[in-house]
This record gives sequence, structure tokens and C-alpha cells, in this order.
Amino acid sequence: MIIILLGPPGAGKGTQAKKISEKFSLPHISTGDMLRDNIIRNTALGIKAKSYMDKGELVPDDLLLDIIKVRLSEPDCSSGFLLDGYPRTLAQADALGKILDNTGKEIDVVLNIHVDDEELINRLSGRRMCSCGASYHVLFNPPKKEGICDSCNGELYQRNDDTPETVKNRLAAYKKLTEPLIDYYNKKALLHTIDGGKDIPGIFGDIAKVLEEI
Ligand code: ADP
Ligand code: AMP
Repeated sequence: MIIILLGPPGAGKGTQAKKISEKFSLPHISTGDMLRDNIIRNTALGIKAKSYMDKGELVPDDLLLDIIKVRLSEPDCSSGFLLDGYPRTLAQADALGKILDNTGKEIDVVLNIHVDDEELINRLSGRRMCSCGASYHVLFNPPKKEGICDSCNGELYQRNDDTPETVKNRLAAYKKLTEPLIDYYNKKALLHTIDGGKDIPGIFGDIAKVLEEI
């Protein structure tokens, strides 16, 4: 099964992706995580991507193409995968379409998680991360012990693009460049819009229902 998670920053894509990936045994491919990993490793891609990410802008399409192509060709993706944060532009959607055409694969579903702007800002401002990949929210999904990861006891931190000014830019980039994908995938009859205003288990229940029918 090939699933795309679409939605603005803070919609809960990463949170739901972890749960989908576990229940449906699919690799979770997050371009944001891949880029942050490149930044930590100080690769040429990481160095180029950082300046865009710090400002809350999208990284140029051509910088993403190679890493996504390579990742999707890895053995664990042979029978399906879950894309979180890719594609984010019409050009990326076309590029993904070509990669899949060349390998005889098709997207099964695009899950569009819809959340109002005010709620997105609340979610992003309270998001806390752990280097192990776990993600929390200070109010909506708090760790058992404040500031400490439940899974690995690591110290939680705030992403440096979750600041108010950067969040404003990320939401603007979403509206201008990513939102047109809703129409793009709707025309291909692949889109399912999910009410992302519910709590985390409620949204997952709705997503699981859609996926079980495919
Ligand atoms: P995205 O990957 O779409 O940017 P995340 O999954 O990182 O979003 O979620 C953003 C923040 O909102 C995190 O702090 C997460 O714990 C919290 N969150 C996710 N889903 C919900 C929800 N349904 N209700 C309240 N908070 C949520
Ligand atoms: P995310 O972790 O999905 O919130 O992404 C964090 C940041 O990484 C975004 O604000 C972009 O700067 C960059 N990024 C992630 N995925 C993409 C993509 N598909 N295209 C362009 N930039 C991306």
C-alpha cells in the first residue's frame, strides 16, 4: 500500500504516521526527518537545506528529488510505504508520479488531514521533540515526566522552526505551494479528507477505517 499524508505543518502527520506505520507495517518516510538527519551529519544537502528550513521556507524541489528516489528504491519500500511531508509542491507530485510510473507502482490513497490555522499554531508552539524521533505536546500529548522522553529518557527540545515567525512562514508556504495538491489528488480520485481537529486516537480511528477499506 502506498499512502501519502497531506496537511499543513502541525496537522499531526508525523503523529499519525507513527501509528499507521506500526499497525500496517509500512516504512514511514518523512522528508523533514531525512533533511534534519542530513543537517546533523553536516552533509552537502544538509548545509544547503538548513538555510531554507530555518526560515520556514520549502527546500527547492531539485534538492529533494535524489534522496526521495534513493529512499523509495530501498528494499523495505518494495511492497509499500507511507510518505509524510512529500510531495509538498505540484512539481514534486509530478516527480513522484514519474518515479512510480517507472517502477509500475501506484498511489493507493492520499490522506488530507485538515486542521484550522488557530489550532495549528497551538500545536506547533507546544510541540516538543526527542532525538529518538518521539514527539510530544506540552498540553495535548505530554510526556509522563515534564521535559523527558517516555521511550528513551532523553531530554526534550523545541524544534527551531517551531518559533512564531517561522511558523507564520511555514503556514504561508503551505497555503501557496502545498494546498494546490488537494485539488491535484482530488482530480485523480485519490483524496480522503480527515477531520484533524479530533484527538489523536479519534483521528487514527478514522484513518484506520479508510485504510481497511482499501
Ligand atoms: P506534523 O507532522 O503534521 O507537522 P505533528 O504530528 O508533529 O505534526 O504534530 C504537531 C504537534 O501537535 C505535536 O506536538 C503533537 O503532539 C500534537 N498533536 C498531534 N495530533 C494532535 C491532535 N489530534 N490533537 C492535539 N495535538 C496533536
Ligand atoms: P516537516 O518536518 O515535515 O515539518 O518539514 C520541516 C521542513 O523541512 C519544512 O519546513 C521544509 O523547509 C523542509 N521540507 C520537508 N519536506 C519538504 C519537501 N517535500 N519539500 C520542500 N521542503 C521540505
